[in-house]
Amino acid sequence: MFPTSIAGSLPKPSWLAEPGKLWAPWRLAGADLETAKLDATLLAIKQQEDAGIDIITDGEQSRQHFVHGFLEFVNGIDFTKRVEMGIRNDRYKAMVPTVTGPLSLKGRVHATEARFARVHTDKKLKLTLPGPMTIVDTIADGYYGDRIKMAFAFADALNEEARALEADGIDVIQFDEPAFNVYMDEVAEWGIAALHRAIAGLNCTTAVHICYGYGIQANVEWKATLGTAWRQYEQIFPVLATSQLGQISLECRNSKVPLELLRLLDGKDVLLGVIDVATEVVETPEEIAALIGKALGYIPRERLVPCTNCGMAPMRRDIATSKLMALGAGAKLARQRFG
Ligand code: ZN
Repeated sequence: MFPTSIAGSLPKPSWLAEPGKLWAPWRLAGADLETAKLDATLLAIKQQEDAGIDIITDGEQSRQHFVHGFLEFVNGIDFTKRVEMGIRNDRYKAMVPTVTGPLSLKGRVHATEARFARVHTDKKLKLTLPGPMTIVDTIADGYYGDRIKMAFAFADALNEEARALEADGIDVIQFDEPAFNVYMDEVAEWGIAALHRAIAGLNCTTAVHICYGYGIQANVEWKATLGTAWRQYEQIFPVLATSQLGQISLECRNSKVPLELLRLLDGKDVLLGVIDVATEVVETPEEIAALIGKALGYIPRERLVPCTNCGMAPMRRDIATSKLMALGAGAKLARQRFG
């Protein structure tokens, strides 16, 4: 009961990348960098195991950014042709690369770290990929002339990698779609269909992570404008409940999402965010168990997976470690209390 997981990323050691940054520059290059990425992956695995996390990840130690770490491996993108674009319905501006030709994978994207992680743990292993809607919201289109067409082209590329990851022994493949909380109408119109293209032919567990973003300033300010009850999920949960995705990862700790909305995810595993990644205050096991207890009013116990609200990449590493330990301890307490 209550197997734990994390949204995906963990902070990188300071010898691998500059700490405290979302798009941190690497501190090494060439063969040294490749070795260091795997050393950091081993640490990420060990830390999750020690904390009692059940469905672990590679900590995303081998990628610089959750979207661009994938895009680096896609043909048809010109990284020198950068344009300023409003991201997430203009919540913040970013200089993004441009799609200039037909999209296809250059080769494997995450084979090295996925196979490495598989060898070094017996735990269930999850690997994350960016979702098609979030990708097209993070890149300029100079070729397709149609956002949906481009999203489906990315979905084909994602599917190729996802199938290969399954063959590598990955148990859960998760797509990160923070854009789902921004373009709620488009989720029903084509967002889910694009995800279905991305998971086509997979037999492993599939998941989608939908959050209100990392704990960066632009997101904290945006959340402050959303009022006292965040109802974005209300629009997209019913669509997700009828989708082919197996698990839904969402933000719950310190968020203003009304818990009764969880009822709308009937039939899905819920990766319940019980760890806030936007504060350095470490949750107590008691607080975590209490939130799990409240959620049990709306989700069956066998479908509840305690998780983090979002990735922990930009956090202080010692705090992220403490939060991992709290997650494991909180779930253990909840098992004793509600088992
Ligand atoms: Zn997130």
